[in-house]
Amino acid sequence: MDVYGLLGNPVAHSLSPPMHEAAYERLGVDARYVSFEPPVDAGQQAVESAATLGVAGLNVTIPFKRDVLGAVEPDDLAARIGAVNTIDLGSDPPTGHNTDATGLRRALEHHDVALAGRAVVVGAGGAGRAAAFALADEGVHVDIANRTVRKATELAAAVNESGGEAAPHPLDALGDLLANADLLVNATSVGMETDRSPVPRAALHGRLAVVDAVYTPVETRLLREAAAAGATTVDGAWMLLYQGVEAFERWTGRDAPVTAMNDALRARLD
Ligand code: NAP
Repeated sequence: MDVYGLLGNPVAHSLSPPMHEAAYERLGVDARYVSFEPPVDAGQQAVESAATLGVAGLNVTIPFKRDVLGAVEPDDLAARIGAVNTIDLGSDPPTGHNTDATGLRRALEHHDVALAGRAVVVGAGGAGRAAAFALADEGVHVDIANRTVRKATELAAAVNESGGEAAPHPLDALGDLLANADLLVNATSVGMETDRSPVPRAALHGRLAVVDAVYTPVETRLLREAAAAGATTVDGAWMLLYQGVEAFERWTGRDAPVTAMNDALRARLD
């Protein structure tokens, strides 16, 4: 039996175990998915211990996504993003990947949203970095708006250095930026567990596709207001689903049972 797991702190409410276990059950894969909660300063050590114990693969969440870079060989995308959320322990050294980025791309493809034109990414933390590189690598021009403008400036510079096209902005530029945008990604935590939106309602319009990385609640205020403005909306559970799908496929080499994983996820979200 193969053991996979999640490294995070806290992990109690993670949706990854039921999502992956649903996939094993559907395909008859002899595997289990376990949550691990090491001390917050022991991320690297936890990866090394998991490798010693024969764990086959790990997902990584807050607060370890950067720390584990020291214990793995990151692929090009994860190295540029500066964060790893999926580790393949089947190789020596273990390899690190960022399926938040590829998950966002697949969530957009699932909704027939074209990866082209101009995107506005709000946020420059872990999710913002993943979104900016994911889109820029597809040739999308990315405007990055963040509360702390310095972080948007650093991220835009990193995207431009790797051959993409990005520009930094303060949050109060959102109105102007969105007027000419095709895609909006909320990669801030605004809207999580609260009925708030990081984007002024008046800036939303029907030519936009709007993705919210926040998935608690699934229908955020931003998505409600975007739908009312006639925009195409993609909720954060799709991104969460496809980062898990990508991890499953990397670890097992098999096509993921996407519908079974989605059903397991949605059954636990409101
Ligand atoms: P993070 O690294 O801590 O970044 C947080 C971001 O939110 C920063 O850009 C921060 O701006 C901004 N922010 C926080 N409070 C704000 C406020 N009151 N007003 C304006 N901006 C604010 O967090 P993260 O890992 O990127 O996660 C961000 C969200 O994405 C979370 O809700 C997380 O659950 C979600 N997420 C979802 C998925 C998925 O698969 N759906 C994957 C990853 C993350 P400053 O830089 O100014 O602090």
